[in-house]
Amino acid sequence: MFPHNSNLAYVILAFMSELVLEIKNLRKEYGAKVAVQDVSFHANRGEVVGLLGPNGAGKTTTIQTLLGLVLPTSGTVNIFGMPIATERIKILQRCNFSSAYIWLPENLKVRENLNVFAALYQVKKAKEKINELLEMFEISQFANTLTGKLSSGESTRLNLCKALLNDPELLMLDEPTASLDPDIADKVRKLIVKIQKEKNMTVLYTSHNMKDVQEICNRVVFMQHGKVHAEGSPKQILAQFKQKSLEDVFIRIARGGDLIEEEEKAGEEA
Ligand code: ATP
Repeated sequence: MFPHNSNLAYVILAFMSELVLEIKNLRKEYGAKVAVQDVSFHANRGEVVGLLGPNGAGKTTTIQTLLGLVLPTSGTVNIFGMPIATERIKILQRCNFSSAYIWLPENLKVRENLNVFAALYQVKKAKEKINELLEMFEISQFANTLTGKLSSGESTRLNLCKALLNDPELLMLDEPTASLDPDIADKVRKLIVKIQKEKNMTVLYTSHNMKDVQEICNRVVFMQHGKVHAEGSPKQILAQFKQKSLEDVFIRIARGGDLIEEEEKAGEEA
């Protein structure tokens, strides 16, 4: 039993650590190819979790299963306490996704694209919301430009506007700063952090830019060969791998992840 005055604190704590996303023993095979071997991790409400790993580690496949675009071979994915396998529509209404590598229809103008998605997400006061987001990401001047005529950096920012239209509780960002110049990347990073904090949004963030990750992620999940290789706060990971930067940890995992496990086992046995 909790003392009376800590009751409220307990309830607030429970709410704050509400489980938003839970992946258990996820496996995905494409014929003989195992894209994801065995992945388990979670994200609580308001957390920014970095999903990291070398090329081919299985990050995109994992995100695709979260969006219900890929069916797992085995394992479970629950979002907001519901299984994606049966509650995809209910879940996706409360989520959104942005990738530097996915393009919105090119033959529509920027504003037309956002209007379509605003209608799909049943956004209230859509016009105001769209104007606010275009201004925030500094692309108002392209509102009447064909989407296909945008540069990749402008298109990335349009994708982010699309991803924030429905005030998602869970936002999945796949390399959101990949095609941005350093100035815009810095602004976008700061904007993501600001919006995340204001809305207490949960963010799953994949990036190869470890500076981004160190700056904005509360917790990171390092994948390698379709498995979770390490998990913890950036500080914990740096201590665990005895490195000064996440970039050094990344390189170490990419080049000799299994050796690290063996070293650790040897250390434990000694
Ligand atoms: P990157 O950082 O390069 O984007 P990733 O971590 O996102 O890599 P995935 O795209 O999930 O990795 O791919 C994991 C593995 O699964 C890779 O070896 C890839 O070639 C393979 N793979 C992914 N999709 C398919 C598919 N549709 N059919 C066959 N193999 C696939």
